Amino acid sequence: SRLKDGLSKTRKNITEKMDQLFKYHNEVDDELFDELEELLILADVGVSTTTKLMEKIRERVKAERIREAQRVRDILKEEIIAILGDQEEFDPSYPAVFLVVGVNGVGKTTTIGKLAHMYQKQGKRVLMAAGDTFRAAAIEQLEIWANRVGCQLVRHTEGSDAAAVVFDAVQAAKSRGIDVLICDTAGRLHTKKNLMNELEKINRIIDREYPEAHKEVFLVLDATTGQNAVSQAKMFKEKVDVTGIILTKLDGTAKGGIIIAIKSELGIPIRFIGVGEGLDDLQRFDAQAFVEALFD
Ligand code: GDP
Repeated sequence: SRLKDGLSKTRKNITEKMDQLFKYHNEVDDELFDELEELLILADVGVSTTTKLMEKIRERVKAERIREAQRVRDILKEEIIAILGDQEEFDPSYPAVFLVVGVNGVGKTTTIGKLAHMYQKQGKRVLMAAGDTFRAAAIEQLEIWANRVGCQLVRHTEGSDAAAVVFDAVQAAKSRGIDVLICDTAGRLHTKKNLMNELEKINRIIDREYPEAHKEVFLVLDATTGQNAVSQAKMFKEKVDVTGIILTKLDGTAKGGIIIAIKSELGIPIRFIGVGEGLDDLQRFDAQAFVEALFD
């Protein structure tokens, strides 16, 4: 499947090592636990999440009097689904507005293009707002995506007020009967304070001008940056009310376990995952399918 292909590096890292581990351990012992723990940490599940998972596994092994190592594998799978899976399916009402935030380079522009494509394919009318006014290239890139996808775009010139772009885009969305408005934002981190103030301002404009719309604030994180992605998420979460995470470049990393750390440490639902550079390489996140793809 596309998901399995996209996760091939992580599968090689986790699945193959796990197969080895369980091949040489028939019975549950401390060595099995130690090796499993190491495997999870190497897959970037994160120390605290791994510790939590291992505690849970030990508890259940004891309570359920498990001797067979193979059962531990099933328990691990169940516990990972429990971390990832306690979320309702993403199904916004329309009109919807997505504010897309994240640091430069994580794949924000590409993701907006993929999202626009996904909703256009569902027959929705999509409008993009070029809210990263800091870089001329960002506006141009977004325009290229809008043309490729065949959706509408509201843009101002470089250096103009991002909040004004979003204001205009909201008015355009209302007058043109747009179903999904997707707002790009700047992601320059070296002016962190300004960036966060700008995000707050844009957020307020959407709330004030478009209260009838279903609002989502998507934080885009790059899976290849590992634990760094967790730190970025903590930083954004402090300033804006992030409602969902989009994890990109899962195809480019062997450490897809980061998705478990993100959900466990931040408690924000993962909504979409990026598994390639193409227009169709964005998938709605499904915990069950994700874990099956990793384990089977
Ligand atoms: P931005 O600076 O956050 O807007 O990042 P871009 O959208 O320009 O993407 C940066 C690079 O990451 C580009 O080369 C994209 O093709 C690439 N990219 C984005 N998403 C994915 C993904 O899911 N998988 C892979 N392999 N590459 C991706």
